[in-house]
Amino acid sequence: MKGNKINQRLVTEALLLASGYRKYTGEKLDIYYSSEICAHIGNCVRGNPVAFQVGRRPWIMSDKGECEATMAVVNSCPTGALKYIVKE
Ligand code: SF4
Repeated sequence: MKGNKINQRLVTEALLLASGYRKYTGEKLDIYYSSEICAHIGNCVRGNPVAFQVGRRPWIMSDKGECEATMAVVNSCPTGALKYIVKE
C-alpha cells in the first residue's frame, strides 16, 4: 500500500487529520498513524525498530533512521494505518 496515497490520490494533512490519523512530526518527513485502522501486524516495528518502537513515547519518531527506509516501512503497512507526507 502506497504510504503517501489513499485511493490512488496523494494524501493531505487535512484529509489525514480529519480521518482520525495522529501526526508525528519530523524534519523531513511527517508520519501519520491511525490506531483505529492498525491491525497490529507489526511490519513497522520489525521493519524499522529505530523509528517505530512500541512502549516508547512517542512510539513513532519520524527523524530516527534514514528517511527512505522509513518511507519503505510505511509503504509496507498492509492496512494503511501509516501514512507519510514528505516536507519540501
Ligand atoms: S505495519 Fe501498519 S498495521 Fe501493522 S502494526 Fe504497523 S501500523 Fe499497524
